[in-house]
Amino acid sequence: MTVANLLEFDREALAVYCEQLGEKRFRATQLFRWIHQKGASDFDQMSDLARALRDKLAGRARIAAMAVVSEQASSDGTIKWLFDVGGGNAVETVFIPEDDRGTLCVSSQAGCAVGCRFCSTGHQGFSRNLTTGEIVAQLWFAEHHLRKRLNLPEGTRAITNVVMMGMGEPLQNYAALVPALRVMLDDHGYGLSRRRVTVSTSGVVPMIDRLRDDCPVALAVSLHAPNDALRDDLVPLNRKYPLADLMAACRRYLDKAPRDFITFEYCMLDGVNDSDAQAHELLALVRGDGHGGADVSCKFNLIPFNPFPASGLTCSSKDRVASFARVLQDGGLVTTVRKTRGQDIDAACGQLAGEVQDRTSAKQRMARAPVHLHRSGSEAVEAMRAGRSVASESGS
Ligand code: SAH
Ligand code: SF4
Repeated sequence: MTVANLLEFDREALAVYCEQLGEKRFRATQLFRWIHQKGASDFDQMSDLARALRDKLAGRARIAAMAVVSEQASSDGTIKWLFDVGGGNAVETVFIPEDDRGTLCVSSQAGCAVGCRFCSTGHQGFSRNLTTGEIVAQLWFAEHHLRKRLNLPEGTRAITNVVMMGMGEPLQNYAALVPALRVMLDDHGYGLSRRRVTVSTSGVVPMIDRLRDDCPVALAVSLHAPNDALRDDLVPLNRKYPLADLMAACRRYLDKAPRDFITFEYCMLDGVNDSDAQAHELLALVRGDGHGGADVSCKFNLIPFNPFPASGLTCSSKDRVASFARVLQDGGLVTTVRKTRGQDIDAACGQLAGEVQDRTSAKQRMARAPVHLHRSGSEAVEAMRAGRSVASESGS
């Protein structure tokens, strides 16, 4: 008999499970509250459940997160955990405390198949999807661990926001993602509002539509380029779902979104996507000029690129980022520059490498296909000489 991990179940699935055990469905709500609100992992703790049920569960179910391989705490309060998901793979989860909130950055896959050029997870290639339980376990573990560690008074939450911005493309693991989101939103679970749960995607258009119908939460779209030629290079998924389709999906999403804007993430890459002209091109894109569409109501979040050697890319200068932001702001778009947190523990965006594996030869693929550089001059030449992968100005 396989032992079920109850973290795999949203409340509806837990009700079905209880029925299969010959129990009433409402028992599932009690059980669910013990697991997610109280952080119980031992059925013996569940004092209001009948002894017979507790014994039944003890024989055939468990409540357990993955083993923690390491924990690192940054001087700014950021904490990063590395979880063992078996087969030599590990995924990372990051807690980012701020004055008025605690955000957990959650992984959805071991590795990622999208293979964005500027992302260290993308450079690892894809290992496997996480299960619902493995996604939920990151929150379950972090919430209850932090309550104890931070000595929070009964009933106080450590985590007020979840962002699916760890390793992996959440919308390429849709079947596991949606029940995990339901656990986060459930009033008997973590009770997070839809506005406080954000799915970040590189643009899996059909799944944006499905999320809108199944479980609309806040949406962040990783844009990174103002036109298809550059985005094809940086975010290879763009070849399948080009910008016009992506913008149309964003507009459809807004019909049901809990917030009245989409957050566009834009990673600032020196000499690649950071010119004022490209900022103007972005304005035109989100206004629908030349794309046969209307405005997409949005905010921009500019992310300073976190460099890693294999990318061959560097971060835009502070001045460049400020100038780029100014063009967007002058065009009427709310634009923020992301603060980099947890840098001393490599917990910032794109640094979530886990156990570096390269099952799909992503490194070779990326080295072969050069990125377009919108800059001539010595740095590109130096990069070429150094044999780095950003080699070509012509982008041939
Ligand atoms: N796959 C999803 C979510 C995970 S990535 C997505 O792409 O949206 C979360 C965010 O980190 C994305 O916006 C991604 O583009 C950004 N990111 C990835 N690598 C980065 C790096 N090296 N520096 C800065 N941001 C990075
Ligand atoms: Fe995957 Fe997102 Fe990284 Fe792209 S940025 S490779 S979609 S995790």
